[in-house]
Amino acid sequence: MLGGGFGGAACALEAAGLLGGEHQVTLVDRQRVSYLCGANPFLIVGEREPQTMSRSLEDLPVNGVRFSAAEVESIDLNDKVVHTSAGVEPYDYLVVALGAGYDWERVPGSKDAYSFYNHESALRLQDRLASFEGGSVVIGVAGSPIKCPPAPFETAMVIEWALQRRGIEADVHVAIPEPAPLKVAGPEASDRLRAIFENRGIMLHTGAGVAAVDGSTMVLGDGTELAATIPITVPVHRMPAVVVDAGLAGDKPWVPVDRATLETSHSDVFAVGDVNVIPVGEMAVPKAGVFAAGEGRTVARVIASRVLGTRPPAPYDGVGHCLVAFSGTESASVGGAFVADGGPAVALGEPTPGGLADKEDFEARWRAFTI
Ligand SMILES: Cc1cc2nc3c(=O)[nH]c(=O)nc-3n(C[C@H](O)[C@H](O)[C@H](O)COP(=O)(O)OP(=O)(O)OC[C@H]3O[C@@H](n4cnc5c(N)ncnc54)[C@H](O)[C@@H]3O)c2cc1C
Repeated sequence: MLGGGFGGAACALEAAGLLGGEHQVTLVDRQRVSYLCGANPFLIVGEREPQTMSRSLEDLPVNGVRFSAAEVESIDLNDKVVHTSAGVEPYDYLVVALGAGYDWERVPGSKDAYSFYNHESALRLQDRLASFEGGSVVIGVAGSPIKCPPAPFETAMVIEWALQRRGIEADVHVAIPEPAPLKVAGPEASDRLRAIFENRGIMLHTGAGVAAVDGSTMVLGDGTELAATIPITVPVHRMPAVVVDAGLAGDKPWVPVDRATLETSHSDVFAVGDVNVIPVGEMAVPKAGVFAAGEGRTVARVIASRVLGTRPPAPYDGVGHCLVAFSGTESASVGGAFVADGGPAVALGEPTPGGLADKEDFEARWRAFTI
């Protein structure tokens, strides 16, 4: 398994459990410790500490997974080896779970602006928000697809809630390239979210995301300029270079896979999570940890059935829910079955305190490697 995020870790644990000690499961990741991005909307307003949202791959709670802390440098599909900074890893089955990277260069000025799309940028934004005394906070999304499509809306609501609580007067804006928010959950969810934003005074700009940041001005794709005391960008996402170079995606932006098995065009080579694309109608299975983990477990079962000569497992079901905080006291669930007959069946639930408890449980299960 290349990558020990949601997809790679779930795959490694399931594979080790199914295959027992006779077969070797190796997981390669450049990071020993990773941080849960899903907790960033709370981290930036001081409602989480880094130590309560991290896990170490050295603590994988199962014997039978060999962890190599190394950089994946190249993938040789012909010779069936992976070159890493710690040496060469030969494989019989390969699972690529290297996630999505970011192209900060695509939005000029965004490096000097703020973000919450990785741990380091979220810590910097936390510092800035802590000393914020008023003005405008603008979240600009640069492109599509992005990880966790509800995250920019969730973050706007959590920031608005946190500033209100501190008694700070501020305008909160969100600018997205799509014509409607939360398109992934259908028009009814979109309309409800619009109404909630209107009610709470959060300004939504649709049809043009962030094109550039010029100091304290955010410039949108349609030329609109928004004054931004704190400009926050969600960067353009892209496939990791090592996956592009391996040729796994051909000329596509993400690795195409078989919807049932997550196998790529190379046999016994699989791609799970953010690095792949699973089209469903005009949409695709979202780039979110819950889906990456489900795909990882499916691939482990496929590999185990091939190794052990048993019946192939059920196809990947595309089922998953994300928990979207509406404030520091309530969360709603959004999700459903993406790979369903008749198209995705996805809905946005009501925000409740119980939803927030579910979100905290999700974080705890991630830390314990049980997602
Ligand atoms: C702000 C925010 C909020 C989110 N909220 C949620 C949420 O509430 N629920 C949810 O389900 N999802 C959420 N997500 C999305 C979720 O984090 C991702 O979809 C998920 O992490 C994807 O899992 P993955 O296994 O595909 O990739 P990742 O988790 O990104 O793992 C990829 C791994 O590959 C490693 N790697 C990459 N390149 C190399 C290399 N060359 N060599 C060695 N190692 C390498 C990385 O170190 C990393 O550990 C959120 C994301 C963000 C940014």
